[in-house]
Amino acid sequence: MSKLQPARGTRDIYGEEARRMSKVVDTFRRVATSYGFEEIATPIFEFTEVFKRPLGEASDVVSKEMYTFEDRGGEEVTLRPEFTAGVCRAFISNGMQQNLPCRLMSNGPAFRYERPQKGRYRQFHQINAELLGPETPEADVDQIAMAWRLLKELGLGDKVILHLNTLGDAESRAAYRDALVAYFDGYKDKLSEDSVRRLETNPLRILDSKDDGDKEIVAGAPLLSEHLNEASRAFFEAVKAGLEAVGVPYEHDERLVRGLDYYTHTAFEFVTTELGAQGTVLAGGRYDGLIEKLGGPAVAGVGWAGGIERLAMLADIQTEANRPIFMLPMGEAATLKAFALAEGLRGAGYTVLADRSGNMKKRLNRANKAEARFAVILGDNELEAGNVVLKDLDSGDQSEVAFDSLVSAVQG
Ligand code: ATP
Ligand code: MG
Repeated sequence: MSKLQPARGTRDIYGEEARRMSKVVDTFRRVATSYGFEEIATPIFEFTEVFKRPLGEASDVVSKEMYTFEDRGGEEVTLRPEFTAGVCRAFISNGMQQNLPCRLMSNGPAFRYERPQKGRYRQFHQINAELLGPETPEADVDQIAMAWRLLKELGLGDKVILHLNTLGDAESRAAYRDALVAYFDGYKDKLSEDSVRRLETNPLRILDSKDDGDKEIVAGAPLLSEHLNEASRAFFEAVKAGLEAVGVPYEHDERLVRGLDYYTHTAFEFVTTELGAQGTVLAGGRYDGLIEKLGGPAVAGVGWAGGIERLAMLADIQTEANRPIFMLPMGEAATLKAFALAEGLRGAGYTVLADRSGNMKKRLNRANKAEARFAVILGDNELEAGNVVLKDLDSGDQSEVAFDSLVSAVQG
């Protein structure tokens, strides 16, 4: 039988990689908590409409990447390709507009049917933060500052650069859309099939095309900044002033449009040069119309998501596994006593394992191989005397320690 493999684009995550990914999530939780965020866990699948409506039919995610299927009851459901739409659906379902602003953090798997490569998978994991309520640019600054703090704490301050753009408000985008249609209409015979279709559905999407021929045409396209109205311009200036006050370095990237349809005003991506085409580690923006699009109240929002695999690959993380303490009891009575002593050590925060078989030399070898910090040796003689032999496996020193002094002895 050939070796049983996980489905294409999915992976088993364990050992060093699992520790690194946990560290990313732990750091995210701690940082987001310091900005007042609270946890929300939404379902991994939703009715397909929840994603289709806000992300837009013309987006790559909806048109090519979603895992959509009919369940046994005939419902159309989709595995979440991202978090924002589901979190906004939850905001509406639970009447959270009674309590604005809402600061909601999540993490977990997301699913997209993509061509797998390093840093790009069909099941991947995201950390996600949504700030719902505030319409003012200071909220955008807060959200980007939070992302920047996380990246710095992961040791990525020198490895990533913030690409920042504005997509303007609805009025500015409508004016820009007209300008783009006029421009791309002249290249209809040269554009890719996908982009000709986008010209009808969402011409802004053409700017995000990965097709080389399209890219050349896009290079000459009009810029959104030439079509921004006064309010949109002022909004963007305020975001930039805030970022300068916080001390977040950025580059204004006029060509940055995000892959999903729902963004307004601020759009941003933290990008590294170290992961090739998978260089975007964290991205987000403002999405003022999204909650209404889902049938909810007119509540604004700004948020971002980070790819945990990409962050874990890049981050400067020390992930030594906890060095355990090994209990090495000889005989039945000592084995029972070792249970109680191990509980005492675990209660004090230590990782404790027991090795109960074979001779002492073999067991000590296994303890050393497991990089144990101490071995706790006890047999009938020790039981009688009320102590253990504590062996420091780094120095080789060993000493007799009374049962009730064991915790303080390993604390050193
Ligand atoms: P890309 O341009 O790399 O396809 P994206 O714009 O589709 O990214 P977003 O929808 O903004 O990505 O998702 C936020 C983050 O999630 C990305 O910056 C990236 O770190 C991560 N991510 C997205 N898709 C994948 C994937 N298929 N595998 C691993 N990580 C991913
Ligand atoms: Mg993508």
